[in-house]
Amino acid sequence: MTEVTRTFFESRLQRRGLTALVPTMGYFHEGHLALMAAARQAAETVIVSLFVNPLQFNDPADLERYPRDFERDLEMAQAEKVDVVFAPSSEEMYSEPPLTRVRVAKVEDHLEGPRRPGHFAGVATAVAKLFAGLQPDLAFFGRKDAQQLALVRQMTKDLSFPVTISGQPTIREQDGLALSSRNVFLGPEDRTAALSLSAGLFAAADLAEAGERDGRRLLEVASKVADGVDVEYVTLASQNHAQPLAELDRPSFLAVAARVGKVRLIDNVAFDLVVGQVMADRGRRLERESVLYR
Ligand code: AMP
Repeated sequence: MTEVTRTFFESRLQRRGLTALVPTMGYFHEGHLALMAAARQAAETVIVSLFVNPLQFNDPADLERYPRDFERDLEMAQAEKVDVVFAPSSEEMYSEPPLTRVRVAKVEDHLEGPRRPGHFAGVATAVAKLFAGLQPDLAFFGRKDAQQLALVRQMTKDLSFPVTISGQPTIREQDGLALSSRNVFLGPEDRTAALSLSAGLFAAADLAEAGERDGRRLLEVASKVADGVDVEYVTLASQNHAQPLAELDRPSFLAVAARVGKVRLIDNVAFDLVVGQVMADRGRRLERESVLYR
């Protein structure tokens, strides 16, 4: 049985043994479900938080139209054997407009940071509140949001939250498009155009695995393939601080952001170094149509 809780206090009372948290904004797809499954494997109690966090939206229209369907999400969480769905009201999260903001310097300086003013402070503040209020032992995040993952890892270290952070592979649709709740807003033409983002990243990943270390070459390849969409940036950045890199000489990720139709999409492939060799994490593809379109 999945319990629905509305307050931090009730949620804490549900914890038994090792407790894992999966923070989300809802409208679940297989990316969220994979995080829940990983949490289920690792912990005795799994809490999924479901809150569309106004603090992290720099565009009010984006917040307004963000897809929401609580009953649908609850059913899916139940199927993943989630113990607790914590769905706080805005009043529980922010009883009054909060005066405190958690800012993680440096990590927010590039990529998404300058393009979405206030976004990462909103994320860090919300995640810090979830950690403080729910006291999980483990927390699961997607590598899809590589800069966010870097930010959360750094914040957790800096503020000594006793939480182990786990980053999980990006889940993709059959054709390679990274799953995102916002994909529901892509029309058929946008959907085809959007494919060039992952195609560009995969082409660059092939090159990197074949031995190319020059950041500029990797960017060129990824940008060339993605030239049918309105690309905001293609950047090679370090996994730990999301700092732009000229050379692929450490754990890093190649990230792309683009506007496709009404939607802004981000994607990346991660590069890990295994005994000096580059291993690209391209994520995992679904074998059938995503639950997103059901
Ligand atoms: P969101 O609900 O979009 O805020 O995402 C909640 C969590 O799911 C975050 O840790 C995201 O990084 C993760 N996530 C979103 N999309 C994907 C995906 N396609 N694959 C894996 N994780 C994802």
